[in-house]
Amino acid sequence: MSTIPHWIDGARTTGVSSRTSDVFNPAIGAVASQVTLAEEADVNLAVASAVKAAEGWGESSLATRGRVLFKFRELVDRHRDELAAIITAEHGKVLSDAAGEVQRGLEVVEFACGIPHLLKGEHSEQVSRGVDAYSVRQPLGVVAGITPFNFPVMVPMWMFPVAIAAGNAFVLKPSERDPSAAVRLAELFQEAGLPDGVLNVLHGDAVAVNALLDHPDVAAVSFVGSTPIARHVYARGTAAGKRVQALGGAKNHMVVLPDADLDVAADAAVSAGYGSAGERCMAISVVVAVGDAGDELVEKIAERTRKLVTLPGTDPDAQMGPLVTGAHRDRVKSYVDAGVGEGAALVVDGRGYAPPSGHEEGFWLAPTLFDHVTPEMSIYRDEIFGPVLGVVRVPTFDDAVALVNANQYGNGTAVYTGDGLAAREYQRRVRVGMVGINVPIPVPMAYYSFGGWKDSLFGDTHVHGAEGVRFYTRAKAITARWPRQHGIDLGFPTHG
Ligand code: NAD
Repeated sequence: MSTIPHWIDGARTTGVSSRTSDVFNPAIGAVASQVTLAEEADVNLAVASAVKAAEGWGESSLATRGRVLFKFRELVDRHRDELAAIITAEHGKVLSDAAGEVQRGLEVVEFACGIPHLLKGEHSEQVSRGVDAYSVRQPLGVVAGITPFNFPVMVPMWMFPVAIAAGNAFVLKPSERDPSAAVRLAELFQEAGLPDGVLNVLHGDAVAVNALLDHPDVAAVSFVGSTPIARHVYARGTAAGKRVQALGGAKNHMVVLPDADLDVAADAAVSAGYGSAGERCMAISVVVAVGDAGDELVEKIAERTRKLVTLPGTDPDAQMGPLVTGAHRDRVKSYVDAGVGEGAALVVDGRGYAPPSGHEEGFWLAPTLFDHVTPEMSIYRDEIFGPVLGVVRVPTFDDAVALVNANQYGNGTAVYTGDGLAAREYQRRVRVGMVGINVPIPVPMAYYSFGGWKDSLFGDTHVHGAEGVRFYTRAKAITARWPRQHGIDLGFPTHG
């Protein structure tokens, strides 16, 4: 059985650790390979390689960096099918969805290709007589990224293209559940001309993460994953003096007002609820039916949910694939049991799914729909991260806003309505980082920044876009004079 290696200093290596973890093919439920789990010594090697590389890379010209990024963009584009196949093999999502994730990652590379513009500072001439003031943004040195299983290409690419374009070296610790794509991306970046050590990929679990958080040579950490781990990463990283952005979990509400086109809303709820088997941080997991929208909306969602085709991600007919691991499927299934026990109405039950022949051991759970979910139920409170959609019914628009605002999470939300004023009111009042108006998954484009509020993000900088550039650089303000006269002046400098 093959072992997925680290990528350190421009080469594959198994490192010094003897610990490994199983990587599954979720469609058949069998172990497909092993991944090496780093020890602290491996972390030290990866960081040392990055420290060495950061010196030269930070000195490289913007033109050089831009050219390498353009070449990387071409290579990712050329290899998009291969990357999608790697994602599907380990994650389970359907191939078209995997290709979509590669596309969204690629868009961040395209954004980072504009680094000469993104790093422009400001300049003020003659702030005092003969004095000019200006600002520059400089790289931090070595930065690390720790990423979740659900987007093994896109989420790392939210981070490293921007960090590297800004002149940093990067250590990526991808999810140990689907680690192969990250190594392939690093190989492609090397082929594009990236010097060895500027991008290292280190596989591992909490041991690797904590060693990165504690390492004195790591200046900043970007994290994306569940809320408890995000909170831990933020606390430990900032205690070690690092800059940290830690994006956490989500419970995204789609509010449907009575005037909405209910067919459009039902299509959106099903697409955003069950796409990628609900394993998206921007998945809709709660539909909030306002006023008398409820009965008809639930009927329309149920009708569509029953027709969804759940098959291995490689099957061209598949709309939804398996879940990532058996343990995760069991956890999601336990929420379906809990929802029944708590008194929610189970409208569509995915637990009885019959897999195709040869896939009986796969990590299956078909789309599941609950109606009459209430805020006290665990299926409402907790992030389930699977194909389980719940409908909460509320009497008024104000109740809908209050419900969303009282929720622990604030990643994404959507409102469905034909009333522009109501949509505007919702967008203004809702305490959530990303809002869709008749758009169910409002993931910002690469040139905007992605991030939630409340327990969906610890730290104050969102990823990619202008905030991403700011996160990976440090500002310096320069005041310059070329004096002609001598003279001592002990007074505080003013412009008078
Ligand atoms: P996770 O929190 O289990 O793992 C994320 C990363 O943290 C992985 O690299 C993992 O190895 C590491 N990790 C796990 N346990 C750790 C520990 N005890 N100490 C230190 N590091 C640890 O998340 P996941 O299951 O891989 O991904 C799903 C979660 O990610 C969901 O909660 C989802 O909402 C969230 N997510 C959020 C966003 C966002 O933008 N807010 C995007 C994608 C996923």
